[in-house]
Amino acid sequence: MNAVAAFLEPAHGDFSETASAWVREHLPAVPAAHGDESARLEARVLCGRMGAAGLFAPIAAGDLRSLCLLREAIAGVSPLADAVVALQALAATPVLIAGTDRQKQEWVSALVSGRAVGAFVMTEPQAGSDVAAMQTTATRDGDGWVINGEKHLISNAGIADLHVVFAVTSPGKGSRGITAFLVPAGTPGLNFDAPQVMAAPHPLGRIVLNGCRLPADAVLGDVDGGFKLGMMTLDRIRPSVGAAACGMAATALADALSHARTRRQFGQALGELQLVRARIGEMATDLDAARLLVYRAAWEKDRGADRITVPAAMAKSFATEAAQRIVDAAVQITGGLGVLVGTRVEYLYRAVRALRIYEGATDVQRLVIGAALLAEPPAPAPSPSQT
Ligand SMILES: Cc1cc2nc3c(=O)[nH]c(=O)nc-3n(C[C@H](O)[C@H](O)[C@H](O)COP(=O)(O)OP(=O)(O)OC[C@H]3O[C@@H](n4cnc5c(N)ncnc54)[C@H](O)[C@@H]3O)c2cc1C
Repeated sequence: MNAVAAFLEPAHGDFSETASAWVREHLPAVPAAHGDESARLEARVLCGRMGAAGLFAPIAAGDLRSLCLLREAIAGVSPLADAVVALQALAATPVLIAGTDRQKQEWVSALVSGRAVGAFVMTEPQAGSDVAAMQTTATRDGDGWVINGEKHLISNAGIADLHVVFAVTSPGKGSRGITAFLVPAGTPGLNFDAPQVMAAPHPLGRIVLNGCRLPADAVLGDVDGGFKLGMMTLDRIRPSVGAAACGMAATALADALSHARTRRQFGQALGELQLVRARIGEMATDLDAARLLVYRAAWEKDRGADRITVPAAMAKSFATEAAQRIVDAAVQITGGLGVLVGTRVEYLYRAVRALRIYEGATDVQRLVIGAALLAEPPAPAPSPSQT
């Protein structure tokens, strides 16, 4: 039974099958344990392969449900490959929203074909959840701009061809004083400083901008409109983070089921033990609920909603928290084997954690939902017949 069929069109089934077939053919069932440098190299290779296979097409088409299906299919097998998809979407989407024709021509097809690797360069050591506190500045220099500052926790740092960089252009104006810039790799003054090694393979690192000179046409969208552009981009991509979480959770559930059917203790299969059964029931219910929220949010966007802030926040926060619970339960059901390096649930256990933090931590998403509800006019009191 497909819990989310009501939110999908027939074409989504075809795309989902294409994505799943590519995953079966190209991604290893159990990824090798490897360090930062190989993750960096592998991400570049995967980007080219996925782009050549047409898997990034939903990004250019603005088809969020297909992007969710893609991330769900890929993340359960290779969280690293999923990060590659995420970053192509994060780099291309602001160009699609606000780019000039020339900027779109130069970058969208390069990103979507996998010829160019993208990076979304927002977070700073002193400005994480509080994006408006960023300190990187872009000051006018004749017709152009000069950027100075430090960014950290940047995916694809050191391998990206295009960096969408956010910087303060009107100091003191907070979120209304930030602008987005398109900065190609090789621009003097843009430097990959150092890798930041994550628990699971993910090309992450620090970028320093030191007197980085840009022409006037490097501005993406409106001067001082970068915060809004960044938030619009994250809104659109956020449900797909939930989809990636669902992909990881689905794999963990499948592995837990397989283990519970075959592993025997106390003279019976683990799956015969009532507490294990109940745990599996909870995992499956969590997964279906997460998928429903993810595809509801994506459907809202695909049917034309300009902003999907609340459904996206619900989808991302619930799905990533649920996936963490599901993967943890799968490790528990797998027992000691579940914490051995080389076991799929062990890899997922390390990979799933970051999803609750990046692109808006769970706590912040919950605040967004609560604030939106409190800003609505109070609902009328129920009439006596409704009580
Ligand atoms: C794997 C990974 C990839 C990333 N890739 C990128 C990237 O490509 N580009 C980029 O720009 N950034 C990226 N980031 C950075 C990411 O967006 C930030 O880590 C995230 O926004 C949180 O910022 P922070 O880490 O500074 O945590 P902080 O902002 O310091 O927050 C720490 C914790 O405090 C709590 N918290 C914060 N604010 C509130 C609040 N208002 N109310 C209640 N609780 C709160 C939350 O629990 C939060 O997790 C990545 C991070 C990771 C882990």
